[in-house]
Amino acid sequence: MTLWNGVLTQTLIASILSLDMKVLVVEDSQMVSRVLQRLFLTSDLPLEAVFCDSLKLAQEKIDLYEDIFAALVDLNLPDAPNGEVVDLTLEKQIPTIVLTGSYDDQKRETLLQYGIVDYIIKESRFSYEYAIQLVHRLLKNQNIKVLLVEDSSSYRSLVRRQLEKHLYHVIEACDGQEGLVKLQQDPEIKLILTDYEMPNMNGIELVQAIRREYETSELKIIGISAADSPSLSAKFIKSGANDFLTKPFNYEELHCRVMHNIEQMELVAQIKDAANRDFLTGLHNRRYLFEQSEKLLAQSQNKACLAMLDLDFFKQINDNHGHDAGDAVLTQMATLLDRSFNRFLHARIGGEEFCVLLCGLNLEQAEILMQHFCTLVHDTEFVFADQVLPVTVSIGLIERADDNFSQMISRADEMLYKAKEDGRNTVMCE
Ligand code: GH3
Ligand code: MG
Ligand code: MG
Ligand code: MG
Repeated sequence: MTLWNGVLTQTLIASILSLDMKVLVVEDSQMVSRVLQRLFLTSDLPLEAVFCDSLKLAQEKIDLYEDIFAALVDLNLPDAPNGEVVDLTLEKQIPTIVLTGSYDDQKRETLLQYGIVDYIIKESRFSYEYAIQLVHRLLKNQNIKVLLVEDSSSYRSLVRRQLEKHLYHVIEACDGQEGLVKLQQDPEIKLILTDYEMPNMNGIELVQAIRREYETSELKIIGISAADSPSLSAKFIKSGANDFLTKPFNYEELHCRVMHNIEQMELVAQIKDAANRDFLTGLHNRRYLFEQSEKLLAQSQNKACLAMLDLDFFKQINDNHGHDAGDAVLTQMATLLDRSFNRFLHARIGGEEFCVLLCGLNLEQAEILMQHFCTLVHDTEFVFADQVLPVTVSIGLIERADDNFSQMISRADEMLYKAKEDGRNTVMCE
C-alpha cells in the first residue's frame, strides 16, 4: 500500500472516530428534517446526526446510544404535542435546543425556564443554520474557561448554572482579590464576568488590575452592574471591560453577550493565525518562523539544529504537468512535513523551500530524522490527476553555534547548495 493510501486510511479512521458522538434530531416535518440533514452533511461538525420523528423513537435512540452530545427537538410531535420530548432529553441531561413553529413572550419564558440551551423559531434557512452553529458552539464551549466573580453565593450559582447549560467550564471567585488569584493560576481563562459591589476589591478595581496585564483582545471582561447606578456600565467600559450587563438581566441576554464576546475573540485569534500562515499549504510562513525562532533561541542556550529543504527540479513539474500539479505537490509535501515534524517549528519559507528548527537535538539525531524524511519523500507517491509525479527533496542541515538565526539560515542554505551539487535527493550536514 502506498503511503498516501495509508494517510488516507488514517484520515478516514480519524474522521470515523470523531463521529462517535451524536446529535439527536427529533422532528416530524419531513421538510425541516431534509433541510437539517443537508446542513449537517455540508457542515464540518464532527458529529453524526441521528433523525427520528416521534417521542417514542426518540426514547429508543436515547436508550440505544450512550453518547448523544446534544438534541434538536420539535415541540409539537404526533405523540407529544406539548413539548414532552423536552422533558425526556432534559431528564437525560442532554443539552437541548428547541425548534418551535410559533413564538410568543409567554412561550419563550416557559421554554427558558425549562432549562433548554436555546430555542429556534422555524422560519427560514437561517434559523436552521443557526441551530447547527449553536451545536458547534456547544462543542467548542467545553474547552472555554469562564471566571465568575460575584460575592453573592446564590447569584453565583444561578449564573453558573446558566453558563454550564452552554457547557462552559466555570471557575468561581467571591471577590476581586480572589478573582485575580484565580486568573493568575489559570492562564486558560478566556472570559471574566464580574459583579461591581464586592468586599476587598470591587469589579472596577478588578478590571483595572487585569488590564495592566491583559489586552482586551486576549481576555474578555463583562461587567455586571445594578440598575440603580446607570453610570456604572460606562465606568466598566472605560476601565477596560468589553461589555456589561445590568442586573437583573434575563438569561437569554447573558448568553447572547457571552457568545458575542467569545466569538469576537475567536475571530481575532483566527485573523492573527491566518497572518502567520502560508495561504496555499496552511503551514506557518517565513515571518512567523523568523519571529518564533529568534524568540526560542533567545530563551534557551540549548542545542538546536536547522534544516533547509528544497524540492528537486520542481520547475519541471510545473513545466510538464502545469501549475496546479505543482501546487498539489506543495500541499502534499506540506502534509508530510507537518506530520513528520509536528513537534518542531516548521514553515514554508518560499516557493518550494521549507525549513525546520529542531530544538533539543544534536546534529547526529537531526541527521537521522532528515535522512528518514528524505527517503519518505522519495518513497511517497505524489498524485495529481491520476498521475504519479516524481518528487525528491534536498536538505541542508547545520547545528546551532554562537550565531543568530539569520546566520544559521545562511549556513543551512550553503549546505543545501552542496546537497544540490552532490546530485540532489540527499541530506548534506555541515
Ligand atoms: P532545484 O532542484 O535546483 O531546486 O530546481 P528547481 O526547479 O526546484 O528550482 P527553481 O528555483 O529553478 O524553480 C523553482 C520553481 O518553483 C519556480 C517557480 O515557478 C516554482 N514555484 C514557486 N512557488 C510556487 C507555487 O506556489 N506554486 C507552484 N506551482 N510553483 C511555484
Ligand atoms: Mg454584589
Ligand atoms: Mg528546488
Ligand atoms: Mg528553490
